[in-house]
Amino acid sequence: RDIVRPETGPQLEHDYVVGQVLGKGAFGVVRLVQDKKMGRMYACKSISKAKLISKEDVDDVRREVEILNLVSPHRTVAGLSQVYEDRMAVHIVMELCAGGELFERIVAKGTFSEAEAARHFRTMVEMVAHLHALGVMHRDIKPENFLLTDPTDAADLKACDFGLSDFFKPGQHFTSLIGSAYYVAPEVLRRNYGPQCDIWSLGVVLYILLSGMPPFWGNDEKEIFTSILRGNLDFSTAPWPAISDLAKDLVRSILTFDSTQRATAAQILQHPWLAAQGAAPDRPL
Ligand code: ADP
Ligand code: MG
Repeated sequence: RDIVRPETGPQLEHDYVVGQVLGKGAFGVVRLVQDKKMGRMYACKSISKAKLISKEDVDDVRREVEILNLVSPHRTVAGLSQVYEDRMAVHIVMELCAGGELFERIVAKGTFSEAEAARHFRTMVEMVAHLHALGVMHRDIKPENFLLTDPTDAADLKACDFGLSDFFKPGQHFTSLIGSAYYVAPEVLRRNYGPQCDIWSLGVVLYILLSGMPPFWGNDEKEIFTSILRGNLDFSTAPWPAISDLAKDLVRSILTFDSTQRATAAQILQHPWLAAQGAAPDRPL
């Protein structure tokens, strides 16, 4: 696919009307854009070149585009459409997810019913299975990086932000400490990890979906890391006593400290809690 428009080619503004800001991250500003030919709406992540200081930063953006291109199109990913480069920035035009971040939805709802949590969680696991099958690990799985396709409860979920993603080979060990504090796997903190670190982060997201609280927390990064490395799971305080044993069994199998014993994406998809998706009982109030 010919997706990259070089600096000398047509510019973003030539092909799109640029609109409001949808979100911001460490490197990117994401804006609503409309293509002039067809009138379709997209999201455009612009990464300012002023923020790309070292050669590694530039390589990181290249890799982000390469990985997003590789994993697109897929039902579980906000897919890549086009890339532009101008003097100031790299612009990544992708599928629009108009329902906002899963993070905001959690804040608005407090917790999800088991049925709702299971539906979204299945999508997240399918996303990770898709990536891992292509030899890619995401490394920044968290509710800010999952987007809803529309504002209703029937919205689907899609992953975005492959800015920390990387290619892996079977058995390869990674050492760079990367990710977001609450979601980072213990083996990442110990700087010896592989793609199973994504599964841990999924487990943290699932725990939050069901309870509204992160499983490992503290007042600062250091305290959070200590809590992760201690690895204690609390199922005794509310709302956990009211949550099904199947859900707790799945959380436990995912938030397994030893990454070699941890459930894989394929195993999670076979778990009875997900298999019963739709049939999973809503939690009593
Ligand atoms: P960063 O790498 O800087 O964290 P992200 O790719 O995570 O940037 O994008 C930042 C924010 O922009 C996201 O958390 C989300 O709120 C919004 N956003 C990103 N992609 C899309 C999209 N395809 N549709 C709608 N909003 C998006
Ligand atoms: Mg992000």
